[in-house]
Amino acid sequence: MGHGLVLGGGVAGLLAAAALAGHGHVVSVVERDRFDGARPRRGVPQGRHAHLLLARGVRAIESLVPGFEAALLGAGAHRVGMPQDILTFTPFGWTPRFEHGQFLVSCRRPLLESVLRDLVAGVEVVEETEALRLLGDGGRVTGAVVRSRVDGVEREVLADLVVDATGASSKADRWLGELGRSVRDVVVDPGIRYATALYRPAERFRAFPAVCVQPGPPDEGHGGVVLPVEEGRWIVSLAGLRGHVPPTDEAGFLGYAKGLRHPLVAELLGCAELVGGIRAYGAPPGRLRTFPEVAGFVAVGDAVANYNPLYGHGMTVAALDAVALRDGVEEHGLGAGVARVVRKAVSRATADAWALAVGQDVRYERTFAPGRRLPDRVAGWYADRVGAAAAVDREVAGALLDSYTLSEPLSRLMRPGVVRKVLRTKASRNTEPPLTQEERELLTT
Ligand SMILES: Cc1cc2nc3c(=O)[nH]c(=O)nc-3n(C[C@H](O)[C@H](O)[C@H](O)COP(=O)(O)OP(=O)(O)OC[C@H]3O[C@@H](n4cnc5c(N)ncnc54)[C@H](O)[C@@H]3O)c2cc1C
Repeated sequence: MGHGLVLGGGVAGLLAAAALAGHGHVVSVVERDRFDGARPRRGVPQGRHAHLLLARGVRAIESLVPGFEAALLGAGAHRVGMPQDILTFTPFGWTPRFEHGQFLVSCRRPLLESVLRDLVAGVEVVEETEALRLLGDGGRVTGAVVRSRVDGVEREVLADLVVDATGASSKADRWLGELGRSVRDVVVDPGIRYATALYRPAERFRAFPAVCVQPGPPDEGHGGVVLPVEEGRWIVSLAGLRGHVPPTDEAGFLGYAKGLRHPLVAELLGCAELVGGIRAYGAPPGRLRTFPEVAGFVAVGDAVANYNPLYGHGMTVAALDAVALRDGVEEHGLGAGVARVVRKAVSRATADAWALAVGQDVRYERTFAPGRRLPDRVAGWYADRVGAAAAVDREVAGALLDSYTLSEPLSRLMRPGVVRKVLRTKASRNTEPPLTQEERELLTT
C-alpha cells in the first residue's frame, strides 16, 4: 500500500482522490480552504459563476464516484438535453433543436463540489492547510511541505505520488524550479470578464429551455448564458472578452444583456426577478503547461491547463484526467513509472479542449496570443465551414456537438462523410430562436 497526496480539494482534487482511493492506497487531500457545505469559498472564486458539466464529464465522474449524477439531480441540479433543451446562438445563427443523446448538468458550482465531497469515500481531507513546496529532487518528488492556516505549523508529508490539483493558480512552476526542473507554458489571453446573478423566473418559465448567446469573432466579444439551477432559479452569467466588461449594477447588467448579439437573454431577464447581488470576476489568462519528466509527481485539472471558460470544458477535462490517473495507477501502482504514463494520458485528455478554446480565442482581435500560423488559419477556416453547415445539417450539427462535448475526438470532424457535407452545405442563418409556439407566447404574456 502506498500513499497518494493530493494538493487542492476542488473538483480535480476530489476526483483525483477518488481515482487513487479505489486501489487500497492511503490517500490524503490537503486543501487551503475550510469547506462550508454548498457555499462559495475563497479558493474557488469562479464558483459563483455559471458552471455546466457536460455529459462526458458526468459519465467519467460516475465511473469514479458511482451515484454522483443521481445525488446531484436529487439535490436540485437539472439535466438539460443537448441540443433540444438549450437554445444556442452561434456566430452562424441559432442551432436547430433535435434529440441527439448529449446533455449537460446544471447547478451552482458549490453544490456540485459538496455532493462530490459527500460521495468520495476512503480519503483523508485536511482542510485549512496550504501546500508550500515539494520534497525530493529533480528526478523524483517524495512529498510536500504543508502549513496549517490555523496554527501556522509546517510539516513534511511523504508520499509515493504527489498530485497537483491546486488549479489555475498552481505554483508547480516555482515548486519544480526549486528542484532544478522547469515547466513550459503557452499563454493565450482573451481577457475574459464575467458578471453573474441569480434570477427567480416567473412560474410559467420553469420548463423554458436554457439559453446561450455566444460571442462572435473578430470583435463581438460579448456573450451570455441562462441556465436553470437549484430552487427554481436561473444563473445568468454575462461575459466579455477584452474590451467588453459586463456591469454589476442591475440596470447596467440588463443593458449589457440587451446589447448581446441577440436580445433573448434580456427578454428572459425581463420575466424574472433578481435575487441577491451581481458578482464580477476576471478569469486568469488561458494557459497550457507542459511538465518535465519527474517521478512521483503529476498535475491534473486547471493546474495543467485552463482555457476560456465560455466553452464549459474545465470540469469535464478534470474528470478525464482523474480517469487517466485511475487507469495509470491500476496498471502501474504508485511506483516510479506511473507519473510518466499519467502525464501523457492527461496531456491527451487536455489537447482537444485546449485546441477548441484557443482555436476560437485567437480569432478575436484583442486576444493576446502567439502569432497565428498558416495551419491555425486553415483550421479556423474549416471550423467556420463546420459551424455554418451545423446550422442547417443535423449530421454535421451532431458531429460538432459530439466533438464540442469532448465525447468524440476533434479529428472526427475530418471524417470524409462529414467533410463532404461541410463543403457542400450552403450556409443559411437562422436569425430567430427555435422556440415552440407555446414558448414564444410565454415571452409576450
Ligand atoms: C468564470 C468561470 C466559469 C467556468 N465555467 C465552467 C463551466 O461551465 N464548466 C466547466 O466544466 N468548467 C468551467 N470552468 C472551469 C472550472 O472552474 C475549472 O476547470 C475546474 O474548477 C477545475 O478544477 P480544479 O480543481 O483544477 O481547480 P479549482 O476548482 O480552482 O480548485 C483548486 C483548489 O486548490 C486549492 N488550492 C490552491 N492552492 C492551494 C495550495 N497551495 N494548497 C492547498 N490547496 C490549494 C483551492 O483552494 C481550490 O480548492 C469555469 C471557470 C471560470 C473561471
